[in-house]
Amino acid sequence: MLTKIIHEDLIQQAKHLLNRAGTVAILSHQGPDGDALGSSLAMADFLQHQGKHVQVIYPDPFPEFLSFMPGSDKALFFSLQPKACEAFLNKADVICCLDFNQLKRMGKLGEVVANSPAKRIMMDHHPEPDTFANVQISYPQLSSTSEIVFRYICRSGYFDEMTKECAECVYTGIMTDTGAFTYNSNNAELYFIVSQLIQKGVDKDALYIKVFNNWSADRMRLMGFVLNNRMKLFPEYHTAILSISLDDLKDFKFQYGDTEGFVNMPLSISGIHFSVFIREDVDKIKLSFRSQGTFPANKVAFELFNGGGHLNAAGGEYYGKLGDAIRILEEALPSYAN
Ligand code: 5GP
Ligand code: MN
Repeated sequence: MLTKIIHEDLIQQAKHLLNRAGTVAILSHQGPDGDALGSSLAMADFLQHQGKHVQVIYPDPFPEFLSFMPGSDKALFFSLQPKACEAFLNKADVICCLDFNQLKRMGKLGEVVANSPAKRIMMDHHPEPDTFANVQISYPQLSSTSEIVFRYICRSGYFDEMTKECAECVYTGIMTDTGAFTYNSNNAELYFIVSQLIQKGVDKDALYIKVFNNWSADRMRLMGFVLNNRMKLFPEYHTAILSISLDDLKDFKFQYGDTEGFVNMPLSISGIHFSVFIREDVDKIKLSFRSQGTFPANKVAFELFNGGGHLNAAGGEYYGKLGDAIRILEEALPSYAN
């Protein structure tokens, strides 16, 4: 049995808004990841089977390796089709905001949502959310937004109607946001949920292979290059910094999504509890932070790079040179030593 972690009032408020809605937009954050897709596609599948007119919209495209997820082929991207996205948002009765805690995590799409008259339902697990939704279902202690969507569907009385496709999306979101059940995954109830998803027909072993064993040879070589040539260790600060320039990426025929997971690798070195991956993009520097134990990755992301996220997984951006981003981080390491 699921315990009532999500407050009953919130379940009823969300259900009430969705029951009355005919047209629902489902949105997630920039650089959509497994949980962004998992939660939004699960919700879309659920609401479509309830007879709603549904459209999933992301600020920008997701990596190719997630394209196996059921329903992902029907998503719209604001960066590619802004007019179609705006037209749908203008006629939507409800906008579901999944897996982000601030409208600015959707970039320009956030401004369109801020100006839309539609009611907003937020489901998310990032700490310290802004209040931008009529119904705010925010539970940072839960593994993933996909878990929240699963709990919402069950608690609103529709578990029996959940399809295999919906269950696959929920499972993929939980699996990716817990590093295949290696962090944020000590809640015993999570495994009750997994067993329910398997009963719905989820092949968890096949989904693992689709997500984690599906890379190009170029990506594997890029990983080897980064670990060999672009990793700096700071044992006194239990820290590793990986970085990669646009020129490096070109040499390895970089495809969007190829660097997914690189940031986790140094954490498997004994004594390294904090890892940062810094990647040069065309218009900015993107930083990913991961930690083990109580070291606050999100604090470093926020204080140095205007970012945020969870205690053990966070991100940020820097508008400047790659070398400067690395230097800012290196110079700050002593101040985080304790
Ligand atoms: P990733 O390193 O996988 O891109 O992101 C890890 C976590 O940090 C995710 O939970 C994501 O939502 C959050 N995150 C990533 N980039 C940013 C950012 O630029 N700003 C904020 N506030 N959070 C971010
Ligand atoms: Mn998430």
